[in-house]
Amino acid sequence: MIRNIYRKRKVLIVDDESINREILGNMLNSEYEVVYAENGKQALEKLSEDKDFSLMLLDLRMPVMGGLQVLSKCRSDSELSKLPIIVLTQEKDAEVESIRAGADDFIKKPYDMPEVILARCERIIELYEKSTLIDLTQVDPLTGLYASEFFFEYIRQYEQYNDKEMDAVVLDIEHFHLINEIHGRDEGDRILKKVAEILEQKSKESFGIACRSSADTFYIYISGMEDYGMLADSIIKAMGELSLSPAKIRLRIGVNKKADRSVSPEQRFDYAKLACDGLRRDYTRQVAFYDKDLHDRQIYETQLIHDMDGSIKSRDFEVYFQPKYGIQGEKPQLTSAEALIRWRHPKLGMISPGDFIPLFEGNGLVQKLDRFVWEEAARYVGIWKKKFGFSVPVSVNVSRIDIYDPDLEDTLAKLLEKNDLKSSELYLEITESAYSDNAVRLIEVVKSLRNKGFRIEMDDFGSGYSSLNMLTAIPIDVLKMDMKFVQNMLKDEKSLKLCELVLDISRFLDVPVVAEGVEDEAQYEKLKEMGCQIIQGYYFSKPLPADEFENLIRKELY
Ligand code: C2E
Ligand code: CA
Ligand code: CA
Repeated sequence: MIRNIYRKRKVLIVDDESINREILGNMLNSEYEVVYAENGKQALEKLSEDKDFSLMLLDLRMPVMGGLQVLSKCRSDSELSKLPIIVLTQEKDAEVESIRAGADDFIKKPYDMPEVILARCERIIELYEKSTLIDLTQVDPLTGLYASEFFFEYIRQYEQYNDKEMDAVVLDIEHFHLINEIHGRDEGDRILKKVAEILEQKSKESFGIACRSSADTFYIYISGMEDYGMLADSIIKAMGELSLSPAKIRLRIGVNKKADRSVSPEQRFDYAKLACDGLRRDYTRQVAFYDKDLHDRQIYETQLIHDMDGSIKSRDFEVYFQPKYGIQGEKPQLTSAEALIRWRHPKLGMISPGDFIPLFEGNGLVQKLDRFVWEEAARYVGIWKKKFGFSVPVSVNVSRIDIYDPDLEDTLAKLLEKNDLKSSELYLEITESAYSDNAVRLIEVVKSLRNKGFRIEMDDFGSGYSSLNMLTAIPIDVLKMDMKFVQNMLKDEKSLKLCELVLDISRFLDVPVVAEGVEDEAQYEKLKEMGCQIIQGYYFSKPLPADEFENLIRKELY
């Protein structure tokens, strides 16, 4: 327990003679809040009611319960053992006895000058407080900032006597381990110290306080900070003055602004941390504020993450199939399908992949989900092949993270074997953004998969990242034009031009284009006229459950 710095300390005077209580009380009440007890029993009652005493002045000879008994009870109690006790005594030999029983000092009756008594009380209190404070402060040896235990205790105490609105702020240095690995630990330490120094100074300006909560995460309790972006900038600038180039460091700051005091300080910082963690997937911002929406979103996401495994087991995930039609012949012809996942959540109902795929991409769980989809897709292609005597190839989505999986090819090979399929019957859609990630690795993987006979479709082409260079370096088999071109092609000239450009590129590369998101006849006719070969979209069909898709194949036959 840290004593509060904003009010008088409390002292308990225990003496059975009222005149003694009064004399002593008068000496102390200018500096302390004085509470009285008439005997040992009463003293113990007061101490158990109120844990906030800074000192007890204890007479030895009293009726009901004497001082020695109180002393021994206090010293064997875990909390009271930390209460300083001064014994009030007349007899010389009682001193030895009370020292043995655990007294910290004596004051002899009749009492000395008030200043002397006050000084002795003060000294003993200070001694005790310092020793317990050292326990708690355990400052972080590297940065000199407080450890979190002291930090939270400080906040609690501060708020008992101060109702200023304070922000709970979490600051995180991104990829700090990389800084350590690349530039060495000394450099890493220098950076941490610099950050700590700035935060300490900033928080002090508002009676705030800062602490280092883990290696590269800082907590700041602060008020009146208007622009956290500027705080981040000033830290990055200061780091630029160290040897590292400032562009290499990114900070994330999560702010729980004027944090609600009805929740514990720990919880308030947890919320700020949520806002901070949310920035992991957002490279456009370095500051995020905690609010109700974020809170709900985080709870929702946590639930999805928690439920994924169980939902795979209980088959709440289901694979749908959306047909792709070749349109350059006389009449549109079913050529293949895309496998798309659906989640029928037992409590939340139907959840769109747009809600959980980006989330699971962020934490790697998507890999497990993809495996499930691939398995299901391969299983159905196998079933239909047996049933109809020909195969309708199905394309599956391959996430960025799958590309780094050393077992990728092995997994796919096993799937083919298990379902008696050829690699030409399972297409792989890789989204365009994966192409900019790690080009070398990607080229290697794509080449190898193609050598094994897989057909590679570049998904969402045109959505942003890939350069034409990339396209000539990576062998692909199909371009899937980003849906937004199709959806806007008849609304604005630029989109139409871009559609034409994609088709030009495809001719240059000598690969077909799949146009996604085709919803109406006009789009369909236009694309056909422009020479687009394959179409996928609501115009033909929404993604369908396996049995309905099976009916569609059957219809196609007759
Ligand atoms: P995507 O791979 O670009 O898939 C096409 C999306 O467009 C699908 O959305 C599909 O239902 C939708 N769509 C198809 N035709 C139309 C149309 O005419 N109009 C409109 N407005 N939309 C159309 P869905 O199924 O919601 O999936 C969204 C995204 O989630 C997919 O985009 C893909 O990136 C991801 N996804 C879906 N299933 C999987 C999966 O099994 N694995 C991975 N890694 N990602 C998946
Ligand atoms: Ca796709
Ligand atoms: Ca797509």
